[in-house]
Amino acid sequence: MQAPSIGGVTVPRGDGSTVVRVRQGATLSDFADKINANPAALVTVLFHLGEMATATQSLDEDTFQVLGQELGYDIRMVSPEEEERELYDSFDIDLEFGVESEDDDDLAARPPVVTVVGHVDHGKTRLLDAIRNEDVAGGETGGITQHIGAYQVHREHDGTERAITFIDTPGHEAFTAMRARGAKVTDIAILVVAADDGVMPQTIEALNHMQAADVPIVVAVNKIDVEGANPQKIRQQLTEYNLVAEEYGGETMFVDVSAKQGQNIDSLLDAVLLTADAALDLRANPDRDARGVAIEANLDKGRGATATVLIQSGTLRVGDAIVTGASYGRVRAMLDEHGQNVEEAEPSRPVQVLGLSSVPRAGDTFVVAPDDRTARQIAEKREAADRQAALAKARKRISLEDLNEALAQGKVDTLNLILKGDVSGSVEALEDALLQIDVGDEVDLRIIDRGVGAITLNNINLAMASDAVILGFNVRAEGQNADVADREGVEIRYYSVIYQAIEEIEQALKGMLKPEFEEVELGSAEIREIFRSSKFGNIAGSIVRSGEIRRGTRARITRNGVVVAENIEVAGLRRFKDDVVEVREGFECGINLGSFNDLQLEDLITTYEMREKPRA
Ligand code: GDP
Repeated sequence: MQAPSIGGVTVPRGDGSTVVRVRQGATLSDFADKINANPAALVTVLFHLGEMATATQSLDEDTFQVLGQELGYDIRMVSPEEEERELYDSFDIDLEFGVESEDDDDLAARPPVVTVVGHVDHGKTRLLDAIRNEDVAGGETGGITQHIGAYQVHREHDGTERAITFIDTPGHEAFTAMRARGAKVTDIAILVVAADDGVMPQTIEALNHMQAADVPIVVAVNKIDVEGANPQKIRQQLTEYNLVAEEYGGETMFVDVSAKQGQNIDSLLDAVLLTADAALDLRANPDRDARGVAIEANLDKGRGATATVLIQSGTLRVGDAIVTGASYGRVRAMLDEHGQNVEEAEPSRPVQVLGLSSVPRAGDTFVVAPDDRTARQIAEKREAADRQAALAKARKRISLEDLNEALAQGKVDTLNLILKGDVSGSVEALEDALLQIDVGDEVDLRIIDRGVGAITLNNINLAMASDAVILGFNVRAEGQNADVADREGVEIRYYSVIYQAIEEIEQALKGMLKPEFEEVELGSAEIREIFRSSKFGNIAGSIVRSGEIRRGTRARITRNGVVVAENIEVAGLRRFKDDVVEVREGFECGINLGSFNDLQLEDLITTYEMREKPRA
């Protein structure tokens, strides 16, 4: 049903009981998508209901209710988690798998899952090799021969053989990309720092990423075989970043190693196990249908789509029907890192799965479904949801403009910022000044990462994962990154003057940073003839002088350059006998201005709309 409505725009209407489900944090764009409306039209409708919002701004439930009532929709809010859960619920699949959601009796210890991070060339890859060689079970199996994206090693620890799972992709990039997609895989991080080089930018970046994710860190001080290596200096440097070594009264274990010579790797593995035992409750229920995360996937010529999945709960068996992301299938075979077939895989075990319909993405969750058909149905629904999400305009995860609203609703209590600048001096100055803003008790301002140089994909990934806003000081997002940020709804703000940045952050925290709207002229027409009709009101026979005249837009009437009327609706538009939506420059048309009658020949009808003003 169409009805010319508020503000002179046409929006498809519901009959009052039409239920529309929108995600929490959805924008007008998302909603427009669901009801097949033009987002700009909804902005106008909302404007006339007394609320200012942009098409890409997250709206709260109340605003959606007001809008829904006006347009005849019964709006129900759902969170993305609810949406996902509902999908699985509808197939009778339980998604909960954490320690809290299980009976204590059902839980069994599981190995820690470790990611190796650090600055380039500090020895991450070499360390992963050395760890592989350290595997006590290596002798029996012929060693780790296959790259499947993760592997397990075993270590005698306190008289028992313990396993540790390593993600075989060094660096924090993959970690953060997965986390940005909601997958939490890593339990512990090993931060590699070369003793002959010291703390470097990516050391700090990696550290920030791990700390933002609350992942405990074990520090491997590498390359101690190199002459002039100074392991103590590394300990000292890292205290600045809240990593205080145990021997200095802190809680972080530091182990001096040489990846090249295979020195002290055993102690490093012990440190991982000790940290896991002290800091984490690593248990899972092995007696249920498996679920976990795809950590690597590819298309193999001979074997088709394969994915390495990390089991997080339950036991995966050959023959299980699984779904991961938009891919599904029956587990035809499972291979481990030794290239050997395995029949079943328990929690924390990585296995390469054969038999999927397509290649999932790293970070997709996988679950076992009751049967093939269900697996396929879930995958199809997922795909549809993904497509919708991609179609809907990116929404801001967190933006300065809606910060205060988010704070008020308790959705966030922290403003996370990432600072990038052209020189370290300005980044430091900006950080100092920001930290001095009096933010009050309700909100925390955290700077989770800072650095010199252009805004990288990594920065954007971290912002996605941590709902952070990026401030660029005399630097821009490089290449395609601006598009990625836009698509993913990461807000980047550019500044060239420090006080301006400070002022805006301060205003945002006080809820004073409102979107600004500006008028954009759409077109103008000159009245050449006036037809008076008692039934339809006056029709202005006009010629379009510039742009185009659209039905439903707002108009202003000027006579000799003086405004005689504002905010009039272009209620009807005709070319000859036909109703039309728009008429372009140079063409004649009949414009119906509703009940507005004060028209004269040569009056100018100018139409306009309100658009959000991009900030400088
Ligand atoms: P990544 O970029 O962090 O993965 O670093 P790599 O593992 O590729 O190592 C970078 C370079 O440092 C390589 O040439 C390694 O052989 C060397 N390297 C790594 N670990 C050690 C070590 O313990 N001692 C010495 N002397 N060289 C090492």
